[in-house]
Amino acid sequence: MLNLESPTSAYIHVPFCQHRCGYCDFTLVAQKDHLIEEYLAAMEQQLAEVGEGIELQTLFLGGGTPTHLSIEQLQRLFNAIFSHFQLAADSEFSIEANPLNLTEEKIDFLKQVGVNRVSLGVQSFDSDILTFLERDHQPEQIFEIVESLQSRIENTSLDLIFAVPSQSLKDWQTSLANAVQLKIPHLSTYGLTIEKGTTFWSRQKAGLFELPEEELAGTMYEFALEFLDAEGLKHYEISNFARPGYECRHNEVYWTGDPYFGIGPGAASYQNGIRRQNYRSVVTWLKRIAAGDSPISDQEQLSPEDRAREAIIFGLRRRVGIDVAEFASRYGFDLHALAHAAIQKHVKAGFLEETATHLRLTQAGCLLADSVVVDFL
Ligand code: SF4
Repeated sequence: MLNLESPTSAYIHVPFCQHRCGYCDFTLVAQKDHLIEEYLAAMEQQLAEVGEGIELQTLFLGGGTPTHLSIEQLQRLFNAIFSHFQLAADSEFSIEANPLNLTEEKIDFLKQVGVNRVSLGVQSFDSDILTFLERDHQPEQIFEIVESLQSRIENTSLDLIFAVPSQSLKDWQTSLANAVQLKIPHLSTYGLTIEKGTTFWSRQKAGLFELPEEELAGTMYEFALEFLDAEGLKHYEISNFARPGYECRHNEVYWTGDPYFGIGPGAASYQNGIRRQNYRSVVTWLKRIAAGDSPISDQEQLSPEDRAREAIIFGLRRRVGIDVAEFASRYGFDLHALAHAAIQKHVKAGFLEETATHLRLTQAGCLLADSVVVDFL
């Protein structure tokens, strides 16, 4: 039986990787493939609890590296997913992948099961930077994989990282130029951040490397905005660029505050104003399901004001910004009544701008988005 608000989007977390990259703090296990069968059995159980015959507009398999699974394992996961969900005719079906384990056979298989968007963790086209990031592919492999991918699944997105120690502006420009040369319709760019608990965290603390100056990171970001815009890739979210019609519909669901299912370790769901977060430890998540316990570690019912504030924070991520009239009718709050001081402060500082209909970040504001949105909490 479906709840009041029935999501039409689902996120499926696949927490397996060949190796944990030094900067990565995602929910995953590396070198623990013996857990895959147990994970698949747990997913079959979890998916059975979601319901039957639910039509999805967007389905997103993220990780980890979903394509680390073999074709047989992926087939079992898809069988479980499609026993409970069905895809709408014009749906978006995305999967995250890494160049190394994306064989031609696997690409054919993904195409055949209906995947129509692949997000590839490329990170850089420079072999020294790939080595520093502990990635297990080389630049030449990216070209081969992207070509073979695009001949079957044209909607390919690349993730690229900037502000990596020892990366020059020229290195970054070369990576962007390579992505454009490959006629990529969607790009996600992230500045390297060092998260507590990662091996990069300890290495940085030990003085083994330093992140580039903020000024250089800012220059790299600004270069991406200008260069990609000139190449027809529109900046539509703080970290995302797309040719018209190639914006990631699944991520738009998060940014517009629409409901979604989240299944798997570390996955979050949002439905009827309730946010639920599954246990992040893969082993704990598996054990709890095996014992018949709930996989949810945190659950929060958002008040109407919480929902409105969250809508500002997510809405500002989008370059189009927040439609002020729509915000008032959807959340029941006037934007200025709720956050006048924060709006004034950041408009004055040049980080926010108000048009006749919208409130949005300026280009300078995009660079400092985290410190801007914190004032709306
Ligand atoms: S491949 Fe991606 S998800 Fe896996 S450890 Fe590296 S960065 Fe994290």
